Amino acid sequence: MAAMAVREVPARSLVGGSRVGYGEDAHRLAAGRALWLGGHSIPEAPRGAAAHSDGDALLHALSDAVLSAFALGDIGVHFPPGQPETADMDSRLILKRCLELVAERAPGARLVNAAAVVTLDAPKLGPHRDAIVASCAEFLGLAPGRFGLTFKTSEGLAPDHVQARATVLFEVWR
Ligand SMILES: [Zn+2]
Repeated sequence: MAAMAVREVPARSLVGGSRVGYGEDAHRLAAGRALWLGGHSIPEAPRGAAAHSDGDALLHALSDAVLSAFALGDIGVHFPPGQPETADMDSRLILKRCLELVAERAPGARLVNAAAVVTLDAPKLGPHRDAIVASCAEFLGLAPGRFGLTFKTSEGLAPDHVQARATVLFEVWR
């Protein structure tokens, strides 16, 4: 009698498929504020983001992208503006909490890569690229080669704002 064929079961399978997320954020620039982008400060910036938290537009866009990949709302839901406990909050903690919410919703979720665009007229961000990439990659648990960062200017259309847009891709494994 022929041995029964054993169906090959992969050690891991991509049960939940892939999830893409998108987020964007903008803040008005104001004197007397530090400018934070991706958890990295830009010391030569004459103005920073006017915001209830530290105003890190890049981390806010990434946080919303992470939440949106699993339809978990946005950071305004989880961190209501105006609350005393979020005043001048380090936005790295916001991103950390968003990643925890994803882990609770989908324990097999693994972030594959992320890409972001920061739009700022001045100062030039090029000299800070490696530091911002390293900072974001660390918070996201990604190798730096899996975080794409693009810098743009508004060509004078929004000289008083800092803006960020971000996409993330997750795979859900069993
Ligand atoms: Zn923001």
